[in-house]
Amino acid sequence: MTPDPVSVEEVCRYLESYAPARLAEDWDNTGLLIGNMQGVVQQVMTCLTVTPETVKEAIDRQVQLIVTHHPLPFRPLKTITRSTIAGGMVLDLIEAGIAVYSPHTSFDSAAEGINQQLAEKLGLSKIVPLRPFDNDPDHLGAGRWGHLETAATLDQWVAKLCREFSISGLQIVAAPSATIQTVGIACGAAGSFLDAAISAGCDAFVTGETNFHTCLEAKAQQITLALPGHYASERFAVENLAQRLQETFPNIDVRPSIDETDPLRWVMPNVPQ
Ligand SMILES: [Zn+2]
Repeated sequence: MTPDPVSVEEVCRYLESYAPARLAEDWDNTGLLIGNMQGVVQQVMTCLTVTPETVKEAIDRQVQLIVTHHPLPFRPLKTITRSTIAGGMVLDLIEAGIAVYSPHTSFDSAAEGINQQLAEKLGLSKIVPLRPFDNDPDHLGAGRWGHLETAATLDQWVAKLCREFSISGLQIVAAPSATIQTVGIACGAAGSFLDAAISAGCDAFVTGETNFHTCLEAKAQQITLALPGHYASERFAVENLAQRLQETFPNIDVRPSIDETDPLRWVMPNVPQ
């Protein structure tokens, strides 16, 4: 007996229940962004971002649906031609019959979304949103904060972040008396949550990346700020999402992108001895 075919619409419906659109930020662009709801899905690829590399991988793997954290298109496109990288990728995807779904900030804030996963990964307890949404029926919000069971020294904290994010180093603004017990987190480029972490009384705040002035603000406010990188703060969650989709739809094949990499890398000067 052949299993019932799975449609793009069924996968979209599941993703909407997991990361509801009402949780997305106003400026965002989420949901099914390219494709046909009635299309049949046999193979799905999850990734952090649609790039020329992930488009090529999706075409080579003959997937029918990409679930990408970051939206494509994000901003409105006036033309869909090969005169821009985004236009060329949209054309390639449409020509190959590949649909694109992006949960983005609804995935950040979902009950079991990226920020919740990050808070659990870092061992926080009593986890609550940093920026609660007004009148949300499930008391959800953006970012998370909570408590470490045992206070960490700065060295212990850095070692833990490197271990959990599988990175060999990170940027840090260290508070003078860096004992860390209360921690705020927000994935991606979320320096705008620093104030909420300070208001919550956090000793430390973790976001993927931020700008220089937010780093100066952290220093002046004496809160430890750790920046493990945008990629490290989010990529693990698209791997978890592939696993979750696979468990939900056992008749299709769901895998994370294997060609996607962090465009940034650490380089050390190669000083002759
Ligand atoms: Zn991001």
